Amino acid sequence: MTRKMKAAMYYGIGDVRYEETEVPEIGPGELLIKIGTALTCGTDVKTYKRGHPILIKHTPALFGHEYAGTIDAVGAGVTDFDVGMRVVATNSAPCGECFFCKRDMPNLCSTLKDNLVNGAFAEYIRVPEPVVRWNTHQIPDSLSFRDAALTEPLACVVHGIEESNIRLGDTVVVIGAGPIGQMQIMLAKKNGASTVIAADLAELRRTIAKKAGADIVLDPSKEDPVERVKEETSGMGADVVIEAVGLRQTWEQAIDMTRDAGTTVLFGGAASGTKFEIDTERFHYGQLTVKGVFHLKPKHVEQALKLIIAKDVDPDLLISHEMPLEKINQALEMMSQGQTMKVAILP
Ligand SMILES: [Zn+2]
Ligand SMILES: [Zn+2]
Repeated sequence: MTRKMKAAMYYGIGDVRYEETEVPEIGPGELLIKIGTALTCGTDVKTYKRGHPILIKHTPALFGHEYAGTIDAVGAGVTDFDVGMRVVATNSAPCGECFFCKRDMPNLCSTLKDNLVNGAFAEYIRVPEPVVRWNTHQIPDSLSFRDAALTEPLACVVHGIEESNIRLGDTVVVIGAGPIGQMQIMLAKKNGASTVIAADLAELRRTIAKKAGADIVLDPSKEDPVERVKEETSGMGADVVIEAVGLRQTWEQAIDMTRDAGTTVLFGGAASGTKFEIDTERFHYGQLTVKGVFHLKPKHVEQALKLIIAKDVDPDLLISHEMPLEKINQALEMMSQGQTMKVAILP
């Protein structure tokens, strides 16, 4: 007997429909979670506006990947979880056995794409076996589904901060103050930065950045961000710069405003095919460290959940709206226009 549920189905660019579909069936080692709350993410907005390299090939597709809820069914062989447990899970998991997994880089696991979880904008979601094994966690009763659903994006930020090598007293610049940038600001402060400078075009985001802990906010349409950062750092440049936009121009600015021997973390993914330039003389004689940082490792998921439980990040600054699932189109549209931070979606 197949059960029916309501879900947002992705049919292609700009075409998401709220309709009835079948509740996913689960196999051995898997979980079926009844969604408590899902969150919109910049990736969902990109999927909606520009398309998604994988989903676009299998439309109509379930989508949405940040979620928390209650276990509705457990597959054969699952021992760590029971029906009725409140949990959060992520959208992927490593295999633990491939080249990259063996070298402590499970974020680059060769099987990540095979087990991607999509379908949080629905009443129920199937969680594949590797995600149950690596990246599913019970949450305390005191933690709301909404706040718990921040675990996955926050885990990516924990990874970025870990790679940024921030030291006590540092000046850190965060370019781009969307939800990810705001979490970078919060954790940069927590990690010992004395001065955090945030750059964003949108006034709403600059205002929130101040509340998130930024000491200085700047509007790149009104002043040259590289010049301003130099001014604020006695001409040196910042110790650490984190780029959370994903454009060639901001990648190049991030490097230009990093001091010699400083670290630039390129966190925002740009459209495929994008190239950028670095001055080789500065790169070499300035001993720059420029890092691409992608996704998360299971340990970052555990760290992120602890930070959320301990209220070390403020979810109210990251999630600005709450809407029912049937309004998913409107939620993505509003987020893409910079009118919202994340939107909590209730099935
Ligand atoms: Zn996301
Ligand atoms: Zn692997």
